[in-house]
Amino acid sequence: MQPERLLKKHNLRKTSGRLSVLRCFLEYGKALSHGEVQDLVGKKVDRVTLYRILQSFEEKGLLHKVPDDQVSVKYALCDHLHNVDHAHSDNHAHFKCNSCGDTVCLEESAIPNIPTPKGFRVNESFLLLGGLCDQCVR
Ligand SMILES: [Zn+2]
Ligand SMILES: [Zn+2]
Repeated sequence: MQPERLLKKHNLRKTSGRLSVLRCFLEYGKALSHGEVQDLVGKKVDRVTLYRILQSFEEKGLLHKVPDDQVSVKYALCDHLHNVDHAHSDNHAHFKCNSCGDTVCLEESAIPNIPTPKGFRVNESFLLLGGLCDQCVR
């Protein structure tokens, strides 16, 4: 899908910064960390602006957070082919390759409901599998 249309669909005003960031995700096709997006967009978008862009994309359901390891987080495009509304049905598992470091969405693998103690309310859940991707396993 065109980046312009994706922004419009998520009620995000079109700015050159937003377009550059969105293009990175569309072209790369995998989860990206803040630092990786920064490297890809270069000087076109400064650090603070990039932070705000990623935040607004997440709020509007254009990106979702992906756990990467203990300390960092990546972002991935939400699945717009299957997801009509963005009431975050992005509760799928993710896979991180320990060799090349790529993190990909396992969109077909929903995270199962984990029972929680009475009175607890779950707002988000993350499941990260680790191993070797199909490129690295050979
Ligand atoms: Zn790999
Ligand atoms: Zn994902």
